[in-house]
Amino acid sequence: SHPANIKLNDGAAMPQLGFGVWQVPDDQAGTAVKTAIGAGYRSIDTAAIYGNESGVGQGIKAAGVARSELFITTKLWNDRQGATEPLKALDESLKRLQLDYVDLYLIHWPAPKQDRFVESWKALVTLKKEGRARSIGVSNFQAPHLSRIIDATGVTPAVNQIELHPRLQQKAMREFHARHGIATESWSPLGQGKLLDDPALTAVAKKHRKTTAQVILRWHLENGLIAIPKSTHEPRIRENFALFDFKLDSSDLAQIAKLDANGRIGPDPDRFS
Ligand code: NAD
Repeated sequence: SHPANIKLNDGAAMPQLGFGVWQVPDDQAGTAVKTAIGAGYRSIDTAAIYGNESGVGQGIKAAGVARSELFITTKLWNDRQGATEPLKALDESLKRLQLDYVDLYLIHWPAPKQDRFVESWKALVTLKKEGRARSIGVSNFQAPHLSRIIDATGVTPAVNQIELHPRLQQKAMREFHARHGIATESWSPLGQGKLLDDPALTAVAKKHRKTTAQVILRWHLENGLIAIPKSTHEPRIRENFALFDFKLDSSDLAQIAKLDANGRIGPDPDRFS
């Protein structure tokens, strides 16, 4: 009745189901994170740009679960890319989080117009060697961005966190990741709540006597994806973790496969900053 771990390409283990905190205000993040850890989540996804790392750190402390049991992710914001800025940026994040390492540090966006993601990646390789980031990865990278950093360093990101949900199933990226041993992490796994009244998904939910959110999250897990749903409401935080007493069948999966519609909600990574 617990999420499995995904084995990353550097040997680390990452929970397949985690808790996202984008748009959770700093003064609510502590309560949200403590509630999530109390409900069983062990993986938390934040970012410097979310402005809530202090609250997240307080929630982690208040939850009273051993640090070694937790998997904490944060991200480098675009204005800190470069050869040395990431080293300072992670220090600042760690101070706010009251931690001495993160489990996963991600470059938040490739920001191709700046063209500094290769030097930023080299800095993350240093942070991994120093142990301040146990694992390193990227977010919103397209295949050519991934190829460039791998070719430049010989170090393959452990994770690429990308927008992924039934309306944006990201088949090509998932195949690229599989070929390179990169774990795929789904951001906005529920399509920011916009998928919850989809008729095909609600029909599958009704059949299993589950909620639509639970069906969507089960779909991520059964596809080998890492999912990090966000909610600040305790019943929903619990609901989104209660996924281990049912399974989608092949006809459910076939129905959901048909929803793929290039339905990107967030920015286009090739154009953003
Ligand atoms: P999400 O897909 O997790 O949807 C969250 C929204 O869905 C909630 O605000 C709520 O309105 C609704 N919801 C959640 N659970 C529900 C339930 N059980 N029943 C009914 N409604 C429910 O959206 P998200 O927050 O955008 O994405 C999740 C996490 O992904 C973020 O918190 C963040 O950690 C990460 N993220 C990363 C990036 C990136 O660029 N790397 C971008 C966006 C999000």
